[in-house]
Amino acid sequence: MVTAVFSHESFLKHITPAGHSEQVARIERVQAALRDPAFDSLDRREAPDCSDDDILLCHPQSHLDAITAAEPATGSIALDGDTYMSPGSTLAARHAVGGCIAAVDAVMTGEVSNAFVACRPPGHHAEQSKPMGFCLFGTAAIAAKHALERHRVSRVAVVDFDVHHGNGTQALLWDEPRSLFIGSHQNPLWPGTGMPEETGAQDNVMTLPLPPHSDGRLMRATYEAQVFPALDAFAPELLILSAGFDAHKDDPLAQLEWTEDDFVWLTQKLCDVADQHCDGRVVSTLEGGYDLNALAASVAAHVGVLMERAK
Ligand SMILES: [Zn+2]
Repeated sequence: MVTAVFSHESFLKHITPAGHSEQVARIERVQAALRDPAFDSLDRREAPDCSDDDILLCHPQSHLDAITAAEPATGSIALDGDTYMSPGSTLAARHAVGGCIAAVDAVMTGEVSNAFVACRPPGHHAEQSKPMGFCLFGTAAIAAKHALERHRVSRVAVVDFDVHHGNGTQALLWDEPRSLFIGSHQNPLWPGTGMPEETGAQDNVMTLPLPPHSDGRLMRATYEAQVFPALDAFAPELLILSAGFDAHKDDPLAQLEWTEDDFVWLTQKLCDVADQHCDGRVVSTLEGGYDLNALAASVAAHVGVLMERAK
């Protein structure tokens, strides 16, 4: 059994303005890192387009229509101060959703042990009817709903370790009692949400704000004290990771001081949870990470652990 990696050429055709942090070079560097011979045993798959019904698992038709209609014929447009669309952006976002759906299918049917979706744009800030923070559709939340509704999974956990609070995923799963959303993030930092009192409609949300300039020691202690016990109590049948790598010490958008070793430790511990509760079933999707060298090295470290743990 192997690790699958899903990606697609459409991720290269979502163009943001010059100087934008969420740039094409991110996915180019990730794909280049995963072409190293160390990754030869990966099961490389195309991230397919999704169906409209996939998007409608979490968003109203009006949001899908608005995103589709907003795409410019040339150049780029700003949906807000951070979130841009170019020709090809809708298709890229659809393939990001489709990659996550296909990754869930491959893991749930036992074709592969675990999977990583190397995609952009990211998804965890998109709310029901609001693109936000570089994100158009809520990829991780849609993947969770897909597992619940179509694979008849009883409990899905989504762990989001991007440095920014996953407000979108949290909103999309807020009243879904079959899901547990756990997000760690720097606070204070955009978008400013993710306080401990945000616990979900069914006590199904856990947020873990971490102070600027804290490092992997506090992250590890926090996950040991709060996250792993909560996951053990919930006993997920599938673990979805919103894998942002912008908590890295070199990232320009935030001030946490994690290293590649911290991402290795965290991935190993989350795989331990998956081994204990769900036969190792992990689907990980790329969110942030804006220092290109740190992003490439961190993704390589993360996928390397997934490969070691594939069984
Ligand atoms: Zn982020």
